[in-house]
Amino acid sequence: MSTLKDDKRQGPVETVRAAGASRDEEAAFPFAAYEPRWRARWDEEGLFRPEVASPKRKFYCLNMFPYPSGTLHVGHGRNYILGDVIVRYRLMHGDDVLCPMGWDAFGLPAENAAIASGIPPEEWTRTNIAIMKRQLKAWGIGYDWDREVASSDPEYYRWTQWIFLRLFQRGLAYRAAGAVNWCPSCNTVLANEQVVGGACERCDTAVETRDLDQWYFRITDYADRLLADLDQLARWPERVVTMQRNWIGRSAGLEIHFAVQGEAEPLVCFTTRADTLFGATFLVLSPGHPLARRLAARPTAEGRALADFIARYNATVHRPDEQLPKEGVFTGVTAVNPASGAAIPVWVANYVLATYGTGAIMAVPAHDQRDFEFARLYGIPVRTVIAADPAVPARGEDLTAAYEGEGVMVDSGPYTGLASDVGRERLIEDFVAQGKGRRAVNYRLRDWLISRQRYWGAPIPIIYCADCGVVPVPESDLPVLLPMGVRFKPTGESPLREVETFYRVPCPRCGKEARRETDTMDTFVDSSWYFLRYLSPRDAARPFARELVDRWLPVDQYIGGVEHAILHLMYSRFVTKVLHDEGLIGFEEPFAALFTQGMICKDGAKMSKSKGNTVSPDDLIARYGADTVRLYTLFVGPPEKDAEWNDRAVDGTYRFLGRVWRLVTDHVDRLPRTRVLGASTGGGRGAGTVGAGDGDETASGRDLRRVTHRTIQRVTQDVDRLHLNTAVSALMEHTNAATGFAAAAMAAGTLAPERAEARVLKEALEALALLVAPFAPHIAEELWQRLGSSTSVFREPWPDHDPALAAAKTIILVVQVNGKVRARIDAPAGLGEVETRDLALADPRVLTHLAGKTLKKAVVVPDKLVNLVVA
Ligand SMILES: [Zn+2]
Ligand SMILES: [Zn+2]
Repeated sequence: MSTLKDDKRQGPVETVRAAGASRDEEAAFPFAAYEPRWRARWDEEGLFRPEVASPKRKFYCLNMFPYPSGTLHVGHGRNYILGDVIVRYRLMHGDDVLCPMGWDAFGLPAENAAIASGIPPEEWTRTNIAIMKRQLKAWGIGYDWDREVASSDPEYYRWTQWIFLRLFQRGLAYRAAGAVNWCPSCNTVLANEQVVGGACERCDTAVETRDLDQWYFRITDYADRLLADLDQLARWPERVVTMQRNWIGRSAGLEIHFAVQGEAEPLVCFTTRADTLFGATFLVLSPGHPLARRLAARPTAEGRALADFIARYNATVHRPDEQLPKEGVFTGVTAVNPASGAAIPVWVANYVLATYGTGAIMAVPAHDQRDFEFARLYGIPVRTVIAADPAVPARGEDLTAAYEGEGVMVDSGPYTGLASDVGRERLIEDFVAQGKGRRAVNYRLRDWLISRQRYWGAPIPIIYCADCGVVPVPESDLPVLLPMGVRFKPTGESPLREVETFYRVPCPRCGKEARRETDTMDTFVDSSWYFLRYLSPRDAARPFARELVDRWLPVDQYIGGVEHAILHLMYSRFVTKVLHDEGLIGFEEPFAALFTQGMICKDGAKMSKSKGNTVSPDDLIARYGADTVRLYTLFVGPPEKDAEWNDRAVDGTYRFLGRVWRLVTDHVDRLPRTRVLGASTGGGRGAGTVGAGDGDETASGRDLRRVTHRTIQRVTQDVDRLHLNTAVSALMEHTNAATGFAAAAMAAGTLAPERAEARVLKEALEALALLVAPFAPHIAEELWQRLGSSTSVFREPWPDHDPALAAAKTIILVVQVNGKVRARIDAPAGLGEVETRDLALADPRVLTHLAGKTLKKAVVVPDKLVNLVVA
């Protein structure tokens, strides 16, 4: 092939050729001639364009839509190839398969590219989409491109804005001032979820805290349902369900009222460990707590010290989840521990988050490590109230670390001596009964911060009027179009703030001059509903067609990276539930099954542009064909695990496909033209299956039929469980067996259309073409035609295995007594000498010849013969 011989490019694959030029020759098969042809034919036939209005049996397979960042590398391919295997496999099961593709096209990289290079974001995005689309097609991935959407298209984002308005009307979208995470490099706020280790998830810059007005979605209203419905997601990876559960972070406990000196209202603290209340020796407020601010306003030395501390804390750039050195200041006031009656000091400290619970905690230094460290730092008493061994309770002053486990309550008034879990429940009951507290549930989940101070996103459809306040844009005025041709500033500040024609608008209510919101929406809003839009992507009247959405959703198989295990999935689940509550859809969970593929690594690290270890599929496809690249990607390891890419090993896969090619093309002229596999003799499938089942096949023929049917069984089971790498292994073993059989039959001169050998081989090759089709679809189509069919292999039913044929191999064991054949036994192959002899000695026909005689000797030839010498 010219692509192989003429190629002078340097690259990692070059080393492969040095290993042996003749191998290329040997492996050559004309993929370049047929791969594009088959892709065109699938397109013409509409193989991937289902009739969505009336599916017989629907199957919605969905890949997470990608951000159009530029070119794809082979690591990206794993996700899409996996999905394509499922799509083609389901097609062969007769399902109506929907597998659309689109683009999560808003976001910062496009805007940063505009700042850096002057290319408008929409142009940058369009260019990248074209490149990636070409690459996906070259991989032979079958999508229904008629349904393509891009979240940055006005026809799409008008409906993102429409959904915002629905949430606004339901009271689920609100504007609030508060401390937010600010990335000084990206020049925008970040959701808590986008802060990783105190740094911006995108650019790694240390995140600051700023007080700003922002838009939020009230996802916390749905915390209980988001948690409870995880139980429905039996076909999600357990670790993803756990991550969702932990992110919601439900904890049940007691809200305790502490009377504070000089305050009319009690201070409310939440605890999950009410059993440690007797050990609460101080209270701690977060610097942002209203009481802390009030106490800081006192014109006393303590008030001033507190005000200084709060000001210093607010001015410091700090990372929200960083382990700061603990620091605090005594407020000068005390509270009463309602259990012990002791007066305890109230502190303000930097280790309490305003966002957890009430922003105030009861500190139990003996049983909470952070409280312990703080108490030791400031000399606050430590009091043990839970003991692992009640006989020897550790004295607070002797502790070197907090004891955070369960145990027996000590020094705890009427609860002393109770197991901590029992005492905890009793104390809660008592406090609730006495009106000193209430049961409460706390969540780690915060409301979803959706506004971004950037340009390349869906504008938030809100107008501010001096008289009318916050006014939603009327639905009839959607979309609020993002102005084109704006000027970008090197600082990254949103250009929208400078575009007068954008922000100066009349108030929709009173008509007076008003100001449009210049913030845009977090791209996670765009991606929280795109799976609904695919059903009616050009519908100009509504965001989605309910009748289609209710028929096709939930998604039967969702596939994507585990990096989306929290945010994207949580937000999509939330928006789905809101739309359900709005009466717009009939289901509450969008994704019935989820598969998270592992990463492809190179040189031990995740493939990434910045590390320079990416491998482009383009060169490999030109050199080896799409089927080879696909098959290698699937063979590289279990799809849910990370795997190391090896360019050299791609050559091995290429040679395998070359063997498949020659196996069929070298022998097809000696095979019957009629269909063998699954063709019935009249008795239906199973025992009546033709092939060589007429009794005239040889032992090697029986062996190959067994391999064929076992391979059908194995590949089917493996694909059902997405064990795709082992499915490929099974196909390789099958190819080896069929190749050996064909060679032997050729040598014996027995490969002729009318002979049993030819039917056996034909059956094996038909199975091979059908089974390899989801993995290497082009070569499967080509070979399927050569085997005598004119229809696409994907219109063929997936083959069934014959259980009898697939069962373990048996042999005929010949048993002689003193040299005379006395029995032929059907026996499992591979028995050892002793088992073989015992089997012969247990046969009744043999036993009649042994009666009254003495066994002198047994000669055993495993899998063949037993000769018993008797006297
Ligand atoms: Zn950043
Ligand atoms: Zn107005």
